[in-house]
Amino acid sequence: MTTSNLQDMTVAELAHALKSKQVSAVEVATRFLAQTGGNPHNAFLDIDSEVTLAQAQASDARLAAGTGGLLEGVPVAHKDVFVTRDFVTTAGSKILTGYRSPFDATLVQKLGASAQGGAGMVTLGKLNCDEFAMGSANENSAFGKVTNPWDIARVPGGSSGGSAAAVAARLTPAATGTDTGGSIRQPASFCGITGIKPTYGRASRYGMIAYASSLDQGGPMARTAQDCALLLSAMCGPDIDRDSTSLDVPAEDFTASLNNSLEGLRIGVPKEFFGDGLAADVRAAVDGALREYEKLGAKLVPISLPRTELSIPVYYIIAPAEASSNLSRFDGVKFGHRAKDYTDLVDMYKKTRAEGFGNEVKRRIMTGAYVLSHGYYDAYYLQAQKIRRMIADDFQNAFQQCDVIAGPVAPSVAWKFGDNANDPVADYLADIFTLPASLAGLPAMSVPAGFGTGDMQNLGTGIGKPLPVGLQLIGNYFQEARLLNAAHRLQQATDFHLRKPEGI
Ligand code: GLN
Repeated sequence: MTTSNLQDMTVAELAHALKSKQVSAVEVATRFLAQTGGNPHNAFLDIDSEVTLAQAQASDARLAAGTGGLLEGVPVAHKDVFVTRDFVTTAGSKILTGYRSPFDATLVQKLGASAQGGAGMVTLGKLNCDEFAMGSANENSAFGKVTNPWDIARVPGGSSGGSAAAVAARLTPAATGTDTGGSIRQPASFCGITGIKPTYGRASRYGMIAYASSLDQGGPMARTAQDCALLLSAMCGPDIDRDSTSLDVPAEDFTASLNNSLEGLRIGVPKEFFGDGLAADVRAAVDGALREYEKLGAKLVPISLPRTELSIPVYYIIAPAEASSNLSRFDGVKFGHRAKDYTDLVDMYKKTRAEGFGNEVKRRIMTGAYVLSHGYYDAYYLQAQKIRRMIADDFQNAFQQCDVIAGPVAPSVAWKFGDNANDPVADYLADIFTLPASLAGLPAMSVPAGFGTGDMQNLGTGIGKPLPVGLQLIGNYFQEARLLNAAHRLQQATDFHLRKPEGI
């Protein structure tokens, strides 16, 4: 086997090639490490080829002995909010510059060394992201923006922008991401890859640096639904001793149902996801995917998620409230950065946090502290919690009529850097279609569904770079297998997930 095409292979293909000894884990790792030289798209925050090659050697030994894990020797890279012993972890924040964790996050462990019970994947490094996963464009990283491989003048989406860009640019066959309000789905959509956020609590949050604990959920990002199924099967499962919201639901082999027929599948199409704010090119691609599902035997059912719009204020009250509490631990005492000149303890806290946090993080801590403060708690936080429950109930009503919900991931394709500069709320509004499933804790994913141009004047003329559009699929609790099956069938009928950005 030539190593030149290794970076085009899927996780499933690499796992097979490694098991059948067509290629070694060291050869695969070497090839991908060569790709990351010069750090294209600024996707990586930490790379350590010695660590990676040592892991690959260990994988080769296990492959030779026939004791390898399910994904033995296949490379993966982790969003920098997962703590890792062997790589620096910063969560994209200056306040954690150079921080090394004494332990690995559960998901890192579950995907990692098979000698420790993991799937046997080899870690290529850590991926850039918005600071503490707060953002929709990866412009909030303290270590520079990530560029979109489809058009470097555009954002890759966020907050898992490094993960999505790295997979799209073939720097890694798969990555982890985290999704609090859309951060797996939206960058997957903007970069033309596949990503799934499982049911809240299904994959452990242990060692995932907390942003908004009642919403945070890790998941896989890869090029195909099959690859996501392979990784997710390794990632899920109870971790109740270490994560208090981990669900006692056994792991599942999500690849088992990938080829199920879609005959009779009822796909709910929420009218609120197709309003005036939806760009024409996104609408056209999503409509095309829905037609494809009809051809595969599915039935489209009009539904309503009446509180879709409210998900924005509700999320942007609850998430900052939780963040203001979670981020209080970064005080210059236990982790990372500490200010140099200070007069007393309180002054040290103040200066450390003023220097260490970026603007968006500060904005959210202030918003969070405000909505939780005496006098405003009832007016904002409590109201938001009540509406959050109603949003979850709306989904349960909808699932009386359908098996899966489908719609756009985002109202537009990836926007240009600077388009939303000085207007953080513009970014918040673009989260409208991903927030509802997050607030309800439902599994949801993004599947490549076509291309737009983001350029309304030139729509349909072929002028302008093709920019990926993702279809969002939302399932009821624990219906990950059904989502992955639907995504896989779409990928068998279309080739959007196979197309590559120019020059890659
Ligand atoms: N864009 C949303 C936010 O800024 C979602 C981020 C996420 O899912 N981590 O909070």
